[in-house]
Amino acid sequence: MRKKVIAGNWKMNKVSNEADQFIDDIAGKVPNDDNVEAIVCAPFPFLKSLVEKTNGTSVKIGAQNMHFEESGAFTGEVSPVMLNDLGVTHVVLGHSERREHFAETNETVNKKAHAAFKHQLTPIVCVGETLDQREANETMDHIEQQVREGLAGLPDEQIAQTIVAYEPIWAIGTGKTASSEDANEVCTHIRNVLKDATSEEVAEKVVIQYGGSVKPANVDELLAQSDIDGALVGGASLEADSFLKLVEAG
Ligand code: 13P
Repeated sequence: MRKKVIAGNWKMNKVSNEADQFIDDIAGKVPNDDNVEAIVCAPFPFLKSLVEKTNGTSVKIGAQNMHFEESGAFTGEVSPVMLNDLGVTHVVLGHSERREHFAETNETVNKKAHAAFKHQLTPIVCVGETLDQREANETMDHIEQQVREGLAGLPDEQIAQTIVAYEPIWAIGTGKTASSEDANEVCTHIRNVLKDATSEEVAEKVVIQYGGSVKPANVDELLAQSDIDGALVGGASLEADSFLKLVEAG
């Protein structure tokens, strides 16, 4: 049985005392449970403090992006070595906002996925279609290309540990959730692509999350689907109470 993974993506929100307070509010309340994992993906300036605060708890801390190089003349960037050094365990790669605003491509996502594993970070690789692509019936082809190119060249044992997040762009921050059946259809497609690229055994191990307006009111139905193993949550992950409800549903 795959565990459920609930990851909060705070995006560019909070200041340091709010970030610390959030962890104080949730840390003792997240169950130490093999069936559910809770990850908070926070802005870079908060990571050190949040890792320290979550030490000895079952909450994991993730970053929202990184560069693929280990060090060098890349002004303003953060490397996988730095994240690993801080004790960060996860990193979101290829979020649609980064693809849209920061020229992230399947190729850079792929380089970053390789770099993540090299430095003991678990990548959360985001894929998703635009509304235009959905209406033109291009969703499945587009997702297949993002998955294949994003994970190209990773050995099977690393693919098995990768978290793939399906986030339809039209459902992010809009209050529009994909119906749980539609979301599951794409998540099943992702697993089939992974089966074809690796093996049934490997593909069955991959945690596939859904993201896009997930909240306590709709999370149960989404997580009840056969191929949805968790959620990547923006808005509803910013409040401790609501994040805890999502973790409880896992
Ligand atoms: P919302 O949950 O705010 O729709 O954001 C989803 C998302 O982009 C998480 O990465």
